[in-house]
Amino acid sequence: MFSKILIANRGEIALRVIRACREMGIASVAVHSTADADAMHVRMADESVCIGPPPGTESYLSIPSIVSACEITGAEAIHPGYGFLSENAAFVQVLEDHGITFIGPSSDHIRLMGDKITAKDTMKKLGVPCVPGSDGGVATIEDARQIADDMGYPVIVKATAGGGGRGMKLAKSATEIDTAFSSARSEAKAAFGNDEVYIEKYLQKPRHIEIQVFGDGKGQAVHLGERDCSLQRRHQKVLEEAPSPAIDAETRARIGKTCADAVAEMGYSGAGTIEFLYEDGTFYFIEMNTRLQVEHPVTEAVFGVDLVREQIMVAAGMGMSMQQQDLVPNGHAIECRINAEKLPEFRPSPGKIAAYHAPGGLGVRMDSALYQGYSIPPYYDSLIGKLIVHAPDRPAALARLRRALDELIVDGVETTAPLFYALLEEKDIQNGNYTIHWLERWLEQSA
Ligand code: ADP
Repeated sequence: MFSKILIANRGEIALRVIRACREMGIASVAVHSTADADAMHVRMADESVCIGPPPGTESYLSIPSIVSACEITGAEAIHPGYGFLSENAAFVQVLEDHGITFIGPSSDHIRLMGDKITAKDTMKKLGVPCVPGSDGGVATIEDARQIADDMGYPVIVKATAGGGGRGMKLAKSATEIDTAFSSARSEAKAAFGNDEVYIEKYLQKPRHIEIQVFGDGKGQAVHLGERDCSLQRRHQKVLEEAPSPAIDAETRARIGKTCADAVAEMGYSGAGTIEFLYEDGTFYFIEMNTRLQVEHPVTEAVFGVDLVREQIMVAAGMGMSMQQQDLVPNGHAIECRINAEKLPEFRPSPGKIAAYHAPGGLGVRMDSALYQGYSIPPYYDSLIGKLIVHAPDRPAALARLRRALDELIVDGVETTAPLFYALLEEKDIQNGNYTIHWLERWLEQSA
């Protein structure tokens, strides 16, 4: 087992990993930018190293700084969290070349899945159903028009290198394809330095259902059921739950096995998520994330596993402790992403935390790096906490969520907590009756 792990991240996910390390008797190293010198992850880790100025590109995304921090502190492995370098194949390649263990899959698997066209192609060959679309990249506007005409509108133009909902443009009819194509390309170029795009059939009423998979890198893999992440704003998840109100045990077992078999066949190592759109009883693969997801706690709650511990065990070559027959979901879990944002515009609201009180009690987990007196810097993602509740069934989980929100106090900055109160009042939310378009429509109507 490793004696020291460096966490190449910040905020709540850095704490999440530090906590797992501590329980496993592994020393932790935090890295931080100058803006984060007082951050909770720096305080909680056993050691810390300043790796640069505030902008992410000069600190949390700086490969030389992070590798140097590893060498200075003697850390043997790096946990990337999510975001930042977690899906950067070049970074993982550097670690592989320098004998530092990356807690995650190989650079080859990251590269394979990081390019969405290759990912779809690979999954199709492994028997995973995909969204109908262009075979590969679409290079010219003439091709885009032709493909969209053949497929039928609406279509969505997506960046091959896409992530975080960027580089994605809808064309409802032929009059919109030229603009969708050119704006998806320029957005992709700006965000990812790669303007390749592809085209998919735009599904009108799907749910976003994703399957948590885990491989031991030696051809064994399991699945831990699904998460329903249909409540989205601008293609970004807002609330996630497990199990999905739309999936029964037989469907779960079937799609779960398809996914576990696919990653076993790939020889995949560590945690991964296979994302689907689900409409009229059919699954359509959209992408695979080769890392721990923000919403992993709902799976941990329902299956009673520690996914970070499993990641560390597999990376250390000790194998995973999970076996498919033991993985039986129990109860219902819901996660709310609480952002420092002002409603209704969702405008970032950084600033000093005047008071903070985390909810507690049975079935409540608050993953947050907040503390009273902390100043949220303006440079990073606005996620400040994840409130996760777990209860025997969905109605009890909704009641617990309301109770936990009542207990939460974050003073000094605006947060998105009031959004979840409002959502809990909605019949469709109470009944689990929503698609990926529900929240956008609701926000429009309530504006
Ligand atoms: P990203 O990597 O940027 O998150 P994804 O491919 O995972 O992009 O898609 C994110 C979200 O965008 C999906 O959850 C869904 O809401 C929407 N989306 C993506 N592809 C389609 C599609 N073919 N039809 C309808 N909505 C889609």
